Amino acid sequence: MVNMDYHWMPFTENKAFKADPQLIVKADGVHYWDDKGNAILDGSSGLFTTPAGHCRPEITEAVSRQLATLDYTPHFLRASPASFELAEALSQLTPNGLDRIFFTNSGSESVETAIKIVYAYWHAKGQGNRQRLVSRERAYHGVNLGGVALSGMVKNREIFGNNGPSVVHMRHTWSETQRFEGGQPREGVELADDLLRAIDNYGAGSIGACFVEPIAGSTGVLVPPKGYLQRLRQICDAHGILLVFDEVITGFGRTGQPFASDTFGVTPDIITLAKALTNGAQPMGAVAVKTEIYDTIIDAAASGAPEFFHGYTYSAHPAATAAALATLKLYRDDGLFERAQSLAPLFQEAMMSLKDLEIITDVRGFGLLAGFDLAPEQRPGKRGFELQKDLFEAGLHIKTTGDAGIVAPAFISSPDEIDQMVSILRKTLKRY
Ligand code: PMP
Repeated sequence: MVNMDYHWMPFTENKAFKADPQLIVKADGVHYWDDKGNAILDGSSGLFTTPAGHCRPEITEAVSRQLATLDYTPHFLRASPASFELAEALSQLTPNGLDRIFFTNSGSESVETAIKIVYAYWHAKGQGNRQRLVSRERAYHGVNLGGVALSGMVKNREIFGNNGPSVVHMRHTWSETQRFEGGQPREGVELADDLLRAIDNYGAGSIGACFVEPIAGSTGVLVPPKGYLQRLRQICDAHGILLVFDEVITGFGRTGQPFASDTFGVTPDIITLAKALTNGAQPMGAVAVKTEIYDTIIDAAASGAPEFFHGYTYSAHPAATAAALATLKLYRDDGLFERAQSLAPLFQEAMMSLKDLEIITDVRGFGLLAGFDLAPEQRPGKRGFELQKDLFEAGLHIKTTGDAGIVAPAFISSPDEIDQMVSILRKTLKRY
């Protein structure tokens, strides 16, 4: 019996968890095992972290070899050569021009790092006034104070959101007309003009960057309307505002291409990454930055401005670096992004088949990422919480958020396993 009186769990109703704990002791491929020996199908790739499947020997062996050779080096004083190799491999994968890579340990740290890069860039250009940021309702950009301010999740901001950077929120992109539409919504491109409203209200000269998730993930998978991201890019270009894509969920093949930037054909100035960078086997994040941004900050430092004083004890940790190098090789050698692309139509169709259930009020998605809404009970979020527990009992792990469910299978899932996921969903949802 595990004693639960000491650990303060993250993002969890601690008391409810203790009353009915769900404990995972093993993982392999697309399955977890709980402490009672039950196999559970992993319908969320962990937490969007593990597209190549759990416990890949290629990754675990690389990490253990690394730990036996060099376990730690303080990266800002004594770097390991592998970190440069990883940066080069990543820059070959990121969209053209985003060729400088800063390493972090999580998505939240990537977001904070990106905010600081934005500030440092404008400072270096002599436009230090551009401190205001624009983001979106129903966005999730992690839990650190800058990310909480950017996020459009009211609950997360209630207590912690008042002391971060000054942020203007655009509207989110979901609307009634999109219910069960599938793929990219046809309507809603004009919502990008909310950025123009922010510019009209505050002046472009006060705005440093616009942060968006290309697909809002954690708040229920909101797919951008056709032309929306292009329009944001045009407005940013016209007003000299940096465009940042938070690809912590969408990065590394989730939409069928290496990045959602590739899938939607829009190149931002900065991309934040984490999760699938190491297939979830080690904590690591990264920020990919346009060369011009890096050059501006570094050149200014060379002529007397402060250096970019930012970094972490564990930046480019050797074990995480080894995991990431092995993961990128696996993605390439096994053609996993192509596999995600070829599985996507089958997966989206299977998810859409749930629309006949009365409790389901919307299904939407793109690539191997889908969200569905449950008709809420009196207390919003109650059904979603119960569903996630009931699904686990029925042998399926997925993430829920409020009354929305999010499904994100591993790229190695077989069509049969996708069918199994959807049939467990159907069976469980029918009882509601
Ligand atoms: N940004 C986005 C878009 C995310 O989805 C997440 C995590 N779900 C984060 C940032 C924060 O990442 P982490 O939990 O690794 O700090």
